Parts: sequence; C-alpha cells; structure tokens
Amino acid sequence: MSIVYDFKENIKKEELDMISKNINNGELVVFPTETVYGIGADATNELAVKKIFEAKGRPQDNPLIVHISNLEMLKDLVYEPTETEKLLMDTFWPGPLTIILKSRKTLPNAVTANLDTVGIRMPDNDIALNIIESCKKPIAAPSANISGRPSGTNVKDIIDELEEKMDFIIDGGETEIGLESTVVRVIDNKIKILRPGKITKEDIESVVKNVEVDKKVMEAIKDNEKVISPGMKYRHYAPKTPCTLVYSENNQKLVDKILEKSQSYSNTLILSTTENIEKYKEYNHINIGSQNNLLEISHNLFSTLRCIDKYNAEKVIIEGVKPDGIGLAIMNRLIRACEYDYEFIK
Ligand code: AMP
Ligand code: MG
Repeated sequence: MSIVYDFKENIKKEELDMISKNINNGELVVFPTETVYGIGADATNELAVKKIFEAKGRPQDNPLIVHISNLEMLKDLVYEPTETEKLLMDTFWPGPLTIILKSRKTLPNAVTANLDTVGIRMPDNDIALNIIESCKKPIAAPSANISGRPSGTNVKDIIDELEEKMDFIIDGGETEIGLESTVVRVIDNKIKILRPGKITKEDIESVVKNVEVDKKVMEAIKDNEKVISPGMKYRHYAPKTPCTLVYSENNQKLVDKILEKSQSYSNTLILSTTENIEKYKEYNHINIGSQNNLLEISHNLFSTLRCIDKYNAEKVIIEGVKPDGIGLAIMNRLIRACEYDYEFIK
C-alpha cells in the first residue's frame, strides 16, 4: 500500500518535511509537476536513482531529467551555460522546458546514462518546487509509469499501475498540461527540439533564431540507429490493443478514411475529436477534445490512452490533429502509441 499525501488544496508543512526526509533517505516519492507526474529520487544518491530504473523497468541507457528549484543549484551540476541557454532559462523557467547541458559529472552515472550531458528543468508547479527546496537537492524524476506505458497524469492511474512499487505518492490533482516537457539541446547556437511539448518551436523562435525540430520526432527509429536523445528509440505510450493513427488536413477525407477502415474490424474503437464524434455513432468512440483546443486534447491524452484496453476492441483508430504548435507534441505521442502504424492522407 502506498501512503498518499493529499496536497490538492494546500501543501501541508509537516507532511512536506516527512516527504523531503524520505527523499533524503533514498526513498522514491511520486509527485506532480505541471506536465505529468514524476517518480522522484535524490539525484545525488546512486542507489535511489537505481531504484527508479528498477521500478519503471526503464532501459539503463535512457537518462533521467534532473529537476531544480533555483538557478543556484545549476552551478554544481553543469558548466557555465551559454548566452543562448541562459536566455532559454530566463524566458521559459520555471516551465515545461528541459535543456540538455554540459554535465560536470558530479551526479551518479546512472542519472545521465554515462553521457557527458544532463537534462535539466525547473518545473512550474508549487508542490514540485517546494519538495525540491525542502530537500535542498536536485531531484531526478522520470514520468510516473511503467516504461512503455502512457505517462501518469492523475493519482488513480498511477496507483493502478505502480501501487506495489511506490511507498509515497503526493496527490496534486490532474496535471495541467498532460504531456511531458519539451526537450531541447543548443548546438552551435542552434536549438534542436528533441522532444516536442507545450513550449512550441514558435514559442522558442519568439526569443531565439535558428530553431529546428529533430527529424526523428515524427519518424520511426531503425534498429541500432544513433539518436541524440536515447528516449527517442524506445516503445512509448502504447495501449495493449493495436492502434492506428489517421490524419488529413481535409476533415471530410479524414472522416471518410476512418469510416472505411472501421468496417474492416469486428469491433472498432474510434478516438475522435469533438467536431467529428457524431459521424462515428455506429462504432464505439471516445471524445479526445476539440480540434480548436489542443490543450484540452493534450490534457486528456494519456488518461484516454490508458482506458482504451477496457473496450476489448480489435482495433483502435485514432484521429490525428494538425502537427503544428502543441499539435506536434500530440502527434509525436500518438505516432508512438500506434507503434508507427499511421496513414497521413493528402
Ligand atoms: P522522461 O523522464 O520519461 O520524461 O524522459 C526523459 C527524456 O529526456 C528521454 O527522452 C531522455 O532520452 C531525454 N534526456 C534526458 N537526459 C538527456 C540527455 N542528457 N541527452 C539527451 N536526452 C536526454
Ligand atoms: Mg517517460
């Protein structure tokens, strides 16, 4: 049984002290951020960090993001950031942006999977910031889920999946954004987006030029292919039921294709945007949110992917969204949830 601390209404000082004591003693604590829930451990404690990998079944070569609560904490962890990196921090921290920085190698190798860089972020969530401040340590925290499954965005889903493995869980309600942070690396003053998130290419371009999305964000990775960010190559977010993703800029063509495909299966489940839901009445369907409110879709996405298997469908057909702005982050997750089974129609 996990102990659940309810911080939805307010952060309770005595309980916060207990939680930080546990983290400083090498225990794991699940806590909310503005993106998704994280499984947190003292990033300076090798044994604690190894527990995270074990609990998630996470491949050892997939490094963890380190969470800080103030810029002072950076000094021990990384070499002096460049002007461009500082500008990103000034503009987007606290917030859902992870920056890959040159590591001083002061953290255990397990955190960075032996790389000479470390991914750092300052979350924009009071509970997360208070925990880090109270521990006075950087906190390593990957998403709260078994590796390969959708990330945890509410405590019920996390208890269903991780109860046996987590002693302490902090309930901060549903996470606001619902998708993991945007991950960037600055190379020769050019910014490469390695994982899209709520902070979009356009957001970053409003403060710095030369922003590029890594091609692999929307492509399958071949066996043994070299990637800049190890997380890119792993299976992610996939329900057990096979899923396929369909997208067209032309809404009529999109609906027609989905209806045509749906006939081929004995039991089809359709994940539809609000605008099209009426058209799929004769099939099982779930509303993922409005095409005009992609934040609603990102907020609901992982909890929706988690409930798919309950329908015992033969096939799930998912409506894609325009891969622009935060839509790119949604499509990046969906393409993986479908294990690259997708059809984009002109
Ligand atoms: P998660 O913690 O599950 O949100 O995943 C963290 C993501 O950040 C993974 O895709 C990692 O591969 C990526 N990441 C973390 N540290 C680094 C690093 N030093 N270099 C490149 N990618 C990183
Ligand atoms: Mg993850």
